[in-house]
Amino acid sequence: MAMKNEQALTIGVDLGGTNLRIAAYAPDLGVLNSVSLRTRLEAGPLAVVDDMCDAIIELIEEHQQGRDLIGVGVGSPGPLELPAGRLHHPPNLPGWDGFPLLAEMEKRLQRPVVLESDANAAVLAEYALGLGKQLGIDSLCMLTLGTGVGNGIILNGKLWHGSTGMGGEAGHMTVYPDGPVCGCGNTGCLEVCASATAIVNAAERLAKNGKASGLSALRDKGAVFTAQSIADAAQQGDPDAKRIFAETGTSLGICLAGLINILNLPLYVIGGGVANSWELLSPTLFKELERRSYVYALTAPGRAASKGMPGGGTQVLPAKLGAEAGLLGACILPMYSAKPSWASA
Ligand SMILES: [Zn+2]
Repeated sequence: MAMKNEQALTIGVDLGGTNLRIAAYAPDLGVLNSVSLRTRLEAGPLAVVDDMCDAIIELIEEHQQGRDLIGVGVGSPGPLELPAGRLHHPPNLPGWDGFPLLAEMEKRLQRPVVLESDANAAVLAEYALGLGKQLGIDSLCMLTLGTGVGNGIILNGKLWHGSTGMGGEAGHMTVYPDGPVCGCGNTGCLEVCASATAIVNAAERLAKNGKASGLSALRDKGAVFTAQSIADAAQQGDPDAKRIFAETGTSLGICLAGLINILNLPLYVIGGGVANSWELLSPTLFKELERRSYVYALTAPGRAASKGMPGGGTQVLPAKLGAEAGLLGACILPMYSAKPSWASA
């Protein structure tokens, strides 16, 4: 599937609710240049697509220089309907329900555009340029912990799309049946238990209830809670901040145990900003895996049934590419997904 063209050029777009990041990418040189623009949500989707396409055309003109332009890759918040390339009620892009993003971009650019969810773009980058490459593994599942929880799955070197492009929505797997209400309508999804938003909400709740003196004191000093500021408090020993991350690890472990039991893949990757706090959340995560997944207990590195598994057993690791995974994945999408598996008939 991987098409290598050393003199190729691609453009990658990471479309977010706050920022648009656009990069020119060459397989032999990596990212040549990248620009970041504010996503003008208030101006509506057509204006955002105009901004995006203007920047794409500028980057192409600047960097093509005889290179073969393979295409434009876009990682977008989901849910996406594929192959139609339409968005459906994306919580982070209000006003975009039903918007035909792919068609609008191809109309302006007159070039092939490959659209995937941002989580699929991230897992593709980890597969081709990150942990998948490092461990020689061609099947993996990734959870990206950010504003929400994204999920991407690669099976035998191909993105798993499901029937309508909506495969890989483990962020909406129920972790606690009576948990908080999720944007999808369900209660207790992984997304409301383990995203950066969930971590901030947990800290706000504790600080407001006066049940966490350290977090309340931080709040009183005018600190704005972010997953990072709460991680910093945890690193400095604040017991409530530590507990929030431990509970995040527990939620992740419950969800991952189910995924491991179902998929039996050699690699599961935790990405997004929250994964930077791996040492705070991984102890409870692994505790849940040992308890809830006999497939994990049997196939963890060094265990009886791990022999012969690529990568040396079921690996659960923090992402290697960090925050750049989404943009890098969008850059390589045109090379790896020129023809999605379901469109090959
Ligand atoms: Zn949900």
